Amino acid sequence: MPKRDDLKDYNYAVAGHAGTMCDADGELFIKPCTQSEVEFYESAHALHPDFAELMPLYIGTLSLNEGADQAAIHAQIPDLVEHADIPFSVKEEIQSHLHLDERKPIIEAPVQKKIITDNVKWVPNKTRKITTDRAVVLENASFGYKKPNIMDAKLGIRLWADDAPQEKKERFDKIAEETTHKKFGFRVAGMRVYKGSTDESELDEEGFKIYDKDWGRYTVNDNNLVDSFRKYIFNEAAGIDEELGKTIAGAFAQDLRRVQEILEKEETRMYSSSLLFVFEGDGEALREAIKEAKETAPVSEHKRGASRAPVANLRVDSGIGMNEEDLCESSTAEDFDDLEDDSDEESSFPRIYTLKLIDFAHATWKPGQGPDENVLLGVRSLADIFEEMSE
Ligand code: ADP
Ligand code: MN
Repeated sequence: MPKRDDLKDYNYAVAGHAGTMCDADGELFIKPCTQSEVEFYESAHALHPDFAELMPLYIGTLSLNEGADQAAIHAQIPDLVEHADIPFSVKEEIQSHLHLDERKPIIEAPVQKKIITDNVKWVPNKTRKITTDRAVVLENASFGYKKPNIMDAKLGIRLWADDAPQEKKERFDKIAEETTHKKFGFRVAGMRVYKGSTDESELDEEGFKIYDKDWGRYTVNDNNLVDSFRKYIFNEAAGIDEELGKTIAGAFAQDLRRVQEILEKEETRMYSSSLLFVFEGDGEALREAIKEAKETAPVSEHKRGASRAPVANLRVDSGIGMNEEDLCESSTAEDFDDLEDDSDEESSFPRIYTLKLIDFAHATWKPGQGPDENVLLGVRSLADIFEEMSE
């Protein structure tokens, strides 16, 4: 089997459990998860299209049971992509990365049903490994960036679901009480910033400064919160000056308002979900991507992954907010010809930024119970902060 067919560790996770993976080219993100997270993705996809737009593109699930070695796991992916209910252009793009011409026969990996009983005595999971045989396959939100600056902002004041054991509730309440959760409705769970320090010994081998979970818990507080965010966005050492940083902050602010708008219309209860922020951390590449986006014809706005594409007049857009109407208004037969013809061009389009709602391990729909104010508090605070940084 060619080496590039292997799954590999995903090394850019800024928070959460160990064991996240991606495919060889990095376009797919694979995370061991609970059955309830799978169900949440599937129901969002089927019944809540606006909400689904906030999530990473959902491709499907994989079986990771004991019999499934790397080859067996990988063998499931092409089939998954082929049958996934996603637009044809997306399928094509992913398949081109999966080298389907070298496709092997599908190995049937049996699905073992295992019920996760979280509601027994809860022991903090020291290795932070998740024990389940299912994995969710998503679009990798950091794919296509030269140096992705990534931040995970964990949302809410209450961080536990109804079925959580008492010990967990108490521990999470204490964390919320002692961090920015209490006042702002979120905390920084982790972050990585390209050339985020002028002291080279503080950077990893790819040049990133890593801010771990303790930073968001013990160093970031109500008083230095905005300064902490500025470390994520503004970074002269990487060529991201005040003006460029403000452009990115403004783009995130705009998307955050859209996230707010959508969540205000939905009835969910999500505990310990996050907003995942990604933007190009290499200033030169970022400038180039914005320039290219501005020069591109309007039809590209409506393609998937619009974070790679422009919106007129200096605006950049991560894809959130593109709706059917937009698509119909400007799509002519000619446009669709274009879509097919320039698919190569599209996949090489440089990325600018991405904002995605992630982590639905403890998320459910609650029809009749109104909007998820616990999560909305965090979203509104983040929108305020990014607006402030953009001014
Ligand atoms: P956990 O339950 O382990 O917290 P998350 O869904 O929060 O799982 O994912 C953990 C980390 O993995 C996130 O902090 C983020 O850095 C990364 N991550 C999650 N989803 C994606 C994705 N679709 N693309 C890229 N990175 C992701
Ligand atoms: Mn998480």
